[in-house]
Amino acid sequence: MPAHIAGSLHAAPSPVWLPYPDDVNALMPSLWSANVTKGDDGVLRIAGHPVTALAEQYGTPMYVLDVADFRARAAEFARAFSTAFERVGPGARGYYAGKAFLCTAAAGWIAEADLGLDCCSLGELMIARRAGFDPALVGLHGNNKSDAEIAFALDWGIGRIVIDSFDEIPRVAAAAADRGTTARVMLRVTVGVEAHTHDFIATAHEDQKFGLSLQGGDAAAAAAQIIDAPSLELIGLHSHIGSQIFDKAGFEVAAGRIIGLRAEIERTHGVSLPEVDLGGGFGIQYTSQDTPTPFGEIAEQLADVVGKACAEHGSEVPFVSFEPGRAIAGPAMFTLYRVGTVKPVDTGSGVRCYVSVDGGMSDNIRTALYDADYSCTLANRTSPEDPVVVRVVGKHCESGDIIVRDEYLPADIAAGDLVAVPGTGAYCRPLASNYNHVPRPGVLAVDGEDVRWAIRPESYQDMFATDPGFAPVHENGE
Ligand SMILES: *Cc1c(COP(=O)(O)O)cnc(C)c1O
Repeated sequence: MPAHIAGSLHAAPSPVWLPYPDDVNALMPSLWSANVTKGDDGVLRIAGHPVTALAEQYGTPMYVLDVADFRARAAEFARAFSTAFERVGPGARGYYAGKAFLCTAAAGWIAEADLGLDCCSLGELMIARRAGFDPALVGLHGNNKSDAEIAFALDWGIGRIVIDSFDEIPRVAAAAADRGTTARVMLRVTVGVEAHTHDFIATAHEDQKFGLSLQGGDAAAAAAQIIDAPSLELIGLHSHIGSQIFDKAGFEVAAGRIIGLRAEIERTHGVSLPEVDLGGGFGIQYTSQDTPTPFGEIAEQLADVVGKACAEHGSEVPFVSFEPGRAIAGPAMFTLYRVGTVKPVDTGSGVRCYVSVDGGMSDNIRTALYDADYSCTLANRTSPEDPVVVRVVGKHCESGDIIVRDEYLPADIAAGDLVAVPGTGAYCRPLASNYNHVPRPGVLAVDGEDVRWAIRPESYQDMFATDPGFAPVHENGE
């Protein structure tokens, strides 16, 4: 398909937010995981391993996971939130949102960090159980849980099922009664707060699929039904307001509303709801424009918010849970690609270089799906050249197959170079697809000396195994 030249003529080659780099070879350390460095030779290293050697040995594209960084981040979240909330009440626990990135190794690191685990499908529950995760610290989410998911959750004895609709109440109650057990449940409440980056919207209406609305009275009615069901134990209320959030303002409104509802339910029914879950959404840095608040600071701010809301409603401070996904997995990974072609395009107001790499929207759909911005660096050498504006694109048959929309790379960027994109640890491998029948890349876990696949690259054998006409297949495609 020919490019639409007229459209691109008016495009500015770089957006105003993108700073012209002082040194295009240098890393911006805050974008990279703790053990990633770049030496004078311009070669990116993770825990001392040059990515040039990793690319030779393991191939590209691949996700490269900084194991120590992932674990440290998980442990720091656990420590910061426990400390802050023990100051104002009984404490807090993070439940890592497994949908951000999950494999058996990651589940193990999460357990060691003393975090719980949020699952929202049978597949995620299966990984958690196989990893030996303590079921008491597992939660099950989902707006349309299957009978199999509910059965698995109850049989395994998980700590909480987050009820998302009226329909689900009798289903979970019956499944628990059948087993002669009591299901510990939370109620997902939509509080009319939608938060994203530095903005949030507080409304009286919720026009989305998740949860039971607070303002319409649905949440209170659902709570009453749960309290009436002998095989259900309502342990608390849940609210998740969005993702990639950088400050406390949205949480403040949500916490005020949820703690108000909790006080009302406790009064009306003479029960006590020991727990409140305020969800996830803590933002990370994808580009120089993102300014995440350190865990210690945001934890202290949120502890104050919850303490204050409880004081206003004259209620006990609950045990508070959170569900960080991106904030733990996101910064711990980068994706390593090899450049295949470079095409300069005169946009009319400057040149933009299209740098095509050996992956694309099949390993990172976030740019196309969410308009996400990423950054990148030349990873195999230094360059004496000036920076040029580039767009890093994939190999798929879509013009929207963009990985990094706007970035500066050295002007001599060429086929054979390696390009690394930081911040790809969350919602990239889990959202990867086999579009164009491209096998999904592996996740190489680097931990000091130790280098191994956390998820090995998909083979053609794996990919074609579901096609009865094309299995088994050899790696040469025959
Ligand atoms: C996605 C999700 C999270 C995690 O969000 P992050 O932005 O990755 O922190 C937590 N809770 C629920 C209910 C979610 O749907």
